[in-house]
Amino acid sequence: MPPEKRKIKKVLDDLDTVEANLSKRKNVNLFLDFDGTIAPIAPTPDEVKIPPEIITILEKMREYDHVFIAIITGRSVENVKDIVNLKNIHYAGNHGLEISGVKRTEIVSNAAQIVRSISKISDDLNKVLLTVPGAWVENKSLTASVHYREVPPSHIPELNRLVGEITARYIDRGLIKLTRGKKVIEIRPNIKWHKGKAVNWMQKNIAKKRATNIYIGDDETDEDVFKTLNSSVTIKVARDSKVKTEAHYYVNNPTEVRYFLQWLLDKVTSLK
Ligand SMILES: [Mg+2]
Repeated sequence: MPPEKRKIKKVLDDLDTVEANLSKRKNVNLFLDFDGTIAPIAPTPDEVKIPPEIITILEKMREYDHVFIAIITGRSVENVKDIVNLKNIHYAGNHGLEISGVKRTEIVSNAAQIVRSISKISDDLNKVLLTVPGAWVENKSLTASVHYREVPPSHIPELNRLVGEITARYIDRGLIKLTRGKKVIEIRPNIKWHKGKAVNWMQKNIAKKRATNIYIGDDETDEDVFKTLNSSVTIKVARDSKVKTEAHYYVNNPTEVRYFLQWLLDKVTSLK
């Protein structure tokens, strides 16, 4: 069904349905995006903080054997682990290209070559982008992000040209590809892998079997998961029900994500 034709409900108005789902299967797989979902967006990625209430909820939830928790993000695993600082939950970083505790080469067969290329590209971009005020490059090992939120519009064509020039030979060799997000150009390995595939991988290998799967996310890259998990409880963080999405539900903001997670914690407690 084309996403624009669907009318989605606010999950907080349909908790009875979610509860009915939960009581059919005793296990729960809770997959969460990070930025804009459990942590409110900040002017720069370094300023983002996770609300302490969310940490408390996740801490309680991870005590249950019938619950699997994973955070899936565009950040590197190392970076998101540092911020969340919770053990005994799982992390997938770099849009699912790395999964905590799993060898990189299991997902990206030429990981060492990619890491070298990304490092060289980041160094070269850092040099040439000195002419573009406000631009900065974040080397995340398996991917890199060129951030341009602070770049004046008149400098954007120059930025695009320089990124194109530096990455061309790697793209020609089939090593990397470029994708775009909110005021960011992502430099990624040229493989068919995304957050949806990472969630599938976790379902097969490390998550709970016969479980209710829940995914909450706010961005374009989360749509890959909504498509993958189409019979699950999928929730988009969005302004209203008119948002174009493959998710079944929406909430308005990270505060409502917290309300939902608090509700979920109470239900999960009564499942066993
Ligand atoms: Mg996000």
